Amino acid sequence: MYAPMMPASDAAAAPLAAPSPLPSLAGLDREKLALALAAIGVGEREVKMRVNQLWHWIYLRGATDFAEMTNVSKHLRATLAEHYSLARPEIVVEQVSQDGTRKWLLRLPAETPGERPHEVEAVYIPERDRGTLCVSSQVGCTLNCSFCHTGTQRLVRNLTAAEIVAQVLVARDRLGDYPGRERAVGPGLPTEGERLVTNIVFMGMGEPLYAYESVAEAIEILSDGDGLGLGKRRITVSTSGVVPEIERLGREVGPMLAISLHAVRDELRDVLVPINKKYPLAELLEACRTYPAASNAKRITFEYVMLKGVNDSPADAKALVRLLKGVPAKINLIPFNPWPGTKYECSDWETIEKFSDIVFQAGYASPVRTPRGRDILAACGQLKSETEKLSARERLALRAMAAAAE
Ligand code: SAH
Ligand code: SF4
Repeated sequence: MYAPMMPASDAAAAPLAAPSPLPSLAGLDREKLALALAAIGVGEREVKMRVNQLWHWIYLRGATDFAEMTNVSKHLRATLAEHYSLARPEIVVEQVSQDGTRKWLLRLPAETPGERPHEVEAVYIPERDRGTLCVSSQVGCTLNCSFCHTGTQRLVRNLTAAEIVAQVLVARDRLGDYPGRERAVGPGLPTEGERLVTNIVFMGMGEPLYAYESVAEAIEILSDGDGLGLGKRRITVSTSGVVPEIERLGREVGPMLAISLHAVRDELRDVLVPINKKYPLAELLEACRTYPAASNAKRITFEYVMLKGVNDSPADAKALVRLLKGVPAKINLIPFNPWPGTKYECSDWETIEKFSDIVFQAGYASPVRTPRGRDILAACGQLKSETEKLSARERLALRAMAAAAE
């Protein structure tokens, strides 16, 4: 099931855009676009129509230059270009795995003067009939799940909604995924359907429900039918279990939900996913049972990382099935991705199969997630920004560990 290890290649398809000193309108919601237009003197009666035009060009057409906006008056285009840009976060590194997975390391401009610029990663995972973009919601993560590399990162700040949306724009820019653009070609890319980015998962760096406001606003922008048009059924928020915010997310926003479960006993989950001490399993499962969007057609995904000798016994599998009774659920078994310094190992393949069989017999689809993009360190839990640079030795160790797990 493992993707073969192959050397990464740095992509050099199209030149990368230079950062702009002007504030960018790319990633803003309608309200903020209206404010930006008002600030350069666009009259109240005209604003709504102009916002709709900008929306169309930025999100539907992927414009990166106001000059492209042919139905906007020349005068307004010039004024816009004087005060604003459509710049995306700077791409520091772009890597393309041999399996088609792509990873971008993005530099976010400092939010306050003097602040060091932060870096986050976004990962594109293509399949035959879909393309999933895994986006980050925070720089680093304040939760210290003991098996996760991101949790070891010190620097943390929430991304803004615009910074989340911009990750999607970058991916679509680089893939040529807008009407009329030249689509990227290469091994592993979807061959069915019109679009290359069809799904979004909040499974990159950070705990999305700790960046609730940004994530909620970003989902509204992404799912807008006149723009990016990524419906809420194609957007999944993955959480370690911030119970009060799960309820709020369901009520206010309504995307698909994924829960990083990883253990079926409080005692063990307290260690693996320490937020469990605050919101134990019973409360978490209750929040899932009452999640408004959940139904048979909109099952909640339960992620379960397979850790050798820790949570992978047949008894654990049976307890998992019992625990999820009454919840419309899918179970996603994730082979553990090792990182330098971790004390965990990935379960043996036979153990994973046995576990998966028990879950399957109980009537759950239980796909084992094939690790993708291992050659570019893009797999789960390996996202760690360059701000906290891995030493060359750590990188080598990581590659070697990944290879050993093949
Ligand atoms: N903070 C959120 C979303 C980001 S983590 C959350 O925890 O749900 C995305 C997924 O990757 C989670 O299910 C997480 O538990 C899993 N993960 C983290 N580190 C991993 C590792 N080293 N190997 C495999 N999966 C990992
Ligand atoms: Fe944070 Fe998720 Fe990693 Fe836990 S698994 S440390 S919540 S990113």
